[in-house]
Parts: sequence; structure tokens; C-alpha cells
Amino acid sequence: MVRATRLHLLFLLVFTLLACFAAAQTSSGAATTASPTANSAAPGPSFEVNAAVDAYLGKMPPAQRARSNAYFEGGYWLILWDFLSTVFVMWLLLRFRWSTRMRNLAERITRFRPLQTALYWIQFIIVIYVVTFPLDVYEGYFREHKYGLLNQTFGPWMREQAVMLAVSVVLGAILIVPLFGLVRRLGKSWWVWGAVLMIVFLAFVSLIAPVYVFPLFNKYTKLEDARIKDPILRMARANGIPATDVYEFDASRQSNRVSANVSGFASTLRISLNDNLLNRCTLPEIETTMGHEMGHYVLNHSYKGLVMMGVVFVVGFAFLNWGISFALTRWGAHWDVRGITDVAVLPLAVIVFSFYFFLMTPVTNTITRTMEFEADMYGLNAAQQPDGEANVDLMLGEYRKLDPGPVEEFIFFDHPSGRTRITAAMRWKAEHPESASAEELARVVSNAP
Ligand SMILES: [Zn+2]
Repeated sequence: MVRATRLHLLFLLVFTLLACFAAAQTSSGAATTASPTANSAAPGPSFEVNAAVDAYLGKMPPAQRARSNAYFEGGYWLILWDFLSTVFVMWLLLRFRWSTRMRNLAERITRFRPLQTALYWIQFIIVIYVVTFPLDVYEGYFREHKYGLLNQTFGPWMREQAVMLAVSVVLGAILIVPLFGLVRRLGKSWWVWGAVLMIVFLAFVSLIAPVYVFPLFNKYTKLEDARIKDPILRMARANGIPATDVYEFDASRQSNRVSANVSGFASTLRISLNDNLLNRCTLPEIETTMGHEMGHYVLNHSYKGLVMMGVVFVVGFAFLNWGISFALTRWGAHWDVRGITDVAVLPLAVIVFSFYFFLMTPVTNTITRTMEFEADMYGLNAAQQPDGEANVDLMLGEYRKLDPGPVEEFIFFDHPSGRTRITAAMRWKAEHPESASAEELARVVSNAP
């Protein structure tokens, strides 16, 4: 998934939802020499799940694990810094009345209120983009390069940022204009319908994204290689999925991360896998990944995700309504914000919403992590490749901490940790010894030099 920056705060929510469908990802290195530590995980009468899990975890060299931990733990702090910097920038907009100046300019240009809202939004998002640019470059470019997770040079990376900004301008306007229309028409009860509008918007974005947004960043083609496509479609049919095509996309232009996803909604729902996955994984690994994706599909995770995020949004909009009145009665006049119907209130709304979602981090992560774990179970049963699954989980561990504490996993993980996933795979393997694969067990998946 494209990493959402603070600029795309509103779309963070969309991406959160979409990211819950982003699946197994790996990176680099597909050598096939034997690993001495892996032998204790071989099946047999004395097969012990925990020992098998430790043997798999031991396949990742300590230096690589330290690097992955540093990258992922740094991400915890970024949640805080992103939140604080968002609040600071929004406060600047209010305190120095930049927000009301942008509103005044929009009002001078047109008397048509929906257009005023849209004009304010365009100024707002461009100002935010410029002000937060240094932190975005650090997070999205330099930091990713430092950990070897980005293949792009600055030019192409910057081009994608510009495209993302353009998408944010358009999609944001589609949300913000009717939202302020609701606030103006409905008065006090706006927040209930605001949450409903948000859910409709999320469904709409999910529906159009695979067709109109994702192709702006990657090239999607139908997968033709019968050696890969046929087993995947066979599994799809066996699981009641009416797919006739599998899509491939060129994620290698951005990074070595391998990913697959079920994207879209209703008629645009489709299963895609990226070129890194195709190039770097064995067929059992691809199959278990696609089994996971099919789990999202069969278990209706896109609909369940919408319902669960809908509940989060209803509470969030109620809190937003309360937070805005609270702040406006104290500082509204000082900021020259006329009320909740005034579009200049937007920076305040972002502060209140950011605070809410900052606190809700464990909740939204648990919503996605729970569905991801369900998809893992589904994938194990559908593909019956527990060793392939463990290898994919290890590759994912190149950028997601492999072995966190339980509280850490509960708060920060939007997917299960490597240990959780490999434990599930080995438990499955213990009860299905015929599924064991000596080749997968011996395979070195590390991309360390
Ligand atoms: Zn998934």
C-alpha cells in the first residue's frame, strides 16, 4: 500500500480500510541452500510447534532482524510525531487566521457556497502539503531508502507525490463539499449523517480506486503465465470465487516488497499480485498468499470492514461535533471562525479528528489485524502450504517486527506479527503432517548480503 502522509489525513482512513486487504508481502532473495537451524522443524512424531516456530524465526539473521525492528519501532514514534505536527500546523492556520483568509478569498471569488467550500479545500490542502513537505520527504523518501525499502530515485518519487496530491484534491472535494452541505442543512444532527456520508464515500473510493487510482501508480496487466495462473484459478473455483482473471502489477518500480491484494468493491473487486511476489517466491508461497487473499474475498472483509469502520466513524463524528463546539465557544472569535458551518473550521476539525484517531490506533489496528488473521487461517486451509506460509511471513518480517510483545502487537500491528502467523502455520502443520515441505523448510529466504 502507498504510505499515507499527514497531508492525506482524510485518506488515511481510506487507506486504513484498503490496507486491511493488502496482504502477504515479501522482499528479495530466493536462494535455495539448506538451513541448518531449520531441521528441528521437520515433521514427525516429536513435532513440537514452538520449536518449529523458533526454527523458522531463526532463519532470519540477527543483523537483519535488528534492522527490521529498528524500522518498525521507529514507526511507533512516527505515529506520535505525525499527530503532533498535524496539530501544530492546524493550530498555526487558526491562530494566525490563515484559515479565515483562505475562506475570505474563496468568498470573494464566488457566492456559490459549494464552490466556496471546494476553493477553500484546494488552498487548504496545498498549504498543508507545502508546510509538511520536509517531514513527508524524510518519512516517505529518506527513511525508506535508509532501510533499503524504496527503489525509486527522487524524481519518480516526487512525481508520485504530485499525483497523490492531485488525487487528494479531487477526492477530498468530493467528500468535503457535501459534508459541509450536511452541516449547514441539518444543524445539530449533522454528525449522524456525516458518518453515513463517510461510509458511502469509503465505499465509493474502494469502488473506483482499482480502476481510476491504482493505475496512476502502477501498471496492471492480466497474469498470463499458466504455471502460476492455473493453480490460482483452480483454487479460486474450489473456493467459490467466480474469478476468470488474476492481475499482476509492477510494484518493483517502487520497492522490493512483495504484495498481493484484494481491492475494489462490488463490480470492481479483483485479486492482484505484484511482480516481486512472482519473481521471488516459490509456487507454494504464491499459493498460500493467494489463499489468504481469497479469504478476504470469501469472508466478505470489505463489507465487514466498512461496517466496523462505520461504527468508529459514528463515534468519531459525535466526538468531532462535541470537540468543535467546545473549542469554538472558547476561541472561535479569536480565530475569526464563525461556527461549525464555516469552512474555515476545517483545521479545528482535523485537530479533533486526529486526536480521536490517534487514540483509536489500537482499535483500528485490531479491526484489520483480526481480519488479517482470519484470512491467514483461510489461506492455510485453502492452499495447505504451512511451510510456504511461514516463509512468506518471514519475508514480511523484513519490514514488520517479527517477534513483538503481546501488548505491542495489540497496539501497533495492523497485521499479525511474524511469530503469530508462523505459530498458526506450524499448528496447522502439526495436525496435517502430510503437508510438510522439506524444500520450503530448507529454503533461505533472507535478503541479507
Ligand atoms: Zn490480508
